[in-house]
Amino acid sequence: MPHKRKSFEEVQEILNILEETYPEARCELNHENPFQLLIATILSAQTTDKKVNQVTPDLFSKYPTPEDFLQMTQWELEEKIREIGLYRSKAANILKTCRILVEEYHSQVPSEREALMKLPGVGRKTANVVLSNAFGIPAIAVDTHVFRVSNRLGLARSDQVAETEEQLMETIPKEQWSSAHHLLIFHGRRICVARNPKCGLCPLKQYCQYYAEAKNLSGNR
Ligand code: SF4
Repeated sequence: MPHKRKSFEEVQEILNILEETYPEARCELNHENPFQLLIATILSAQTTDKKVNQVTPDLFSKYPTPEDFLQMTQWELEEKIREIGLYRSKAANILKTCRILVEEYHSQVPSEREALMKLPGVGRKTANVVLSNAFGIPAIAVDTHVFRVSNRLGLARSDQVAETEEQLMETIPKEQWSSAHHLLIFHGRRICVARNPKCGLCPLKQYCQYYAEAKNLSGNR
């Protein structure tokens, strides 16, 4: 079935339905300031937010600043985050990032994408999460959920993360980028899950490209 671009009205209807379904949608990584969010987001790669939230309270209360983190050896930090996937490389990246924050940014987290993306362990997705959640700068971080849900719905059509982000930025008005990011993640975690999406429960069926294609296929059998 050819990909039909969603109209402005359809996009708004989809976002309205998601807002009604998930009024509590927000960043699920617990944090109190940009530094905590940056570290939590680095930790969250290929790990659940729940797992990160189990580890960070103790870490942030003992080591609240980049200088405090630099008091730890890499091995000590590894020990504190070892329940988290890829903990060795994450510990190394976090300590390198803390050193740059101390030496180049007066221990503050920069609020420019370019500067953020130069920090070890920080890619475009992490930078977008920090920009939108810590600094209120519109951005759509495309993680695995946003990628899957937006392509299933037809808000984007691409097998590339960067292209999906570009298409979402074209499709969704800028002032809605950050909220759309949270709404798509909430939907992807609860209903539009990776394996066997719960389409029967989904309030977006009538707008969904994937659902229409699946229905078409089963109807043609
Ligand atoms: S109808 Fe199914 S595939 Fe489409 S958004 Fe809903 S859960 Fe996902």
